[in-house]
Amino acid sequence: MWDVLVLLGAPGSGKGTTAGDLAEVRPDWIHLSTGDMLRDAIKSGSPVGLEAKQCMDQGQLVPDEVVMKIVSEYMEAGPTDAVYLFDGFPRTDAQAQLLDEFLESSGKGHVSHVFLLEVPEEVLVDRIAGRLICRDCGKVFHRTNMPPTKESMCDDCSGDIYQRPDDNRETVLNRLKVFHNQTASLIDYYGAKKILHRVDCLYRDRALDAILTIMGPKS
Ligand SMILES: [Zn+2]
Repeated sequence: MWDVLVLLGAPGSGKGTTAGDLAEVRPDWIHLSTGDMLRDAIKSGSPVGLEAKQCMDQGQLVPDEVVMKIVSEYMEAGPTDAVYLFDGFPRTDAQAQLLDEFLESSGKGHVSHVFLLEVPEEVLVDRIAGRLICRDCGKVFHRTNMPPTKESMCDDCSGDIYQRPDDNRETVLNRLKVFHNQTASLIDYYGAKKILHRVDCLYRDRALDAILTIMGPKS
């Protein structure tokens, strides 16, 4: 059977880091990032991949049905017994319903846990608005939490360090607002099913430990 876990988190919540940590501790889980999956589908030139590419070329969002088709084809091609960790999908309650319908009709499993990574908004803003990036190698620094040794110079490659134009307070607050609007109904949807777990993600290890504790030991 399939056991599906969903990771939810605002920009800057540490979702990517937590997913990476989980992949290391639980290599038996299959990590599905929709971004990667979309790119793979487009590269493969499959019919759904082409459909997705058409939307993206026109600057449109890929429709829920197309994303769902890419996810379902991926799962159907994989093992019949697996724990899937979804990252970046579902993004809306409409997508969550499609996913549940697919899982139900396939009779192969269900979504068992949804982890909402929580970080106080002030911290999120500070994390992103303080971010500095090396122009040459892409290494990420932070103005106060992880400053480069020499001002505006990369520790690794001596490249030039800069702040991305949209990593400012105002844009971050706006991105958070979009995230909250988008996920409010999704959080209600999973909350009503009593499978939503709020995980404190202020500290990296604490979030990881909380998720591992909820999931229990490897079987
Ligand atoms: Zn560098």
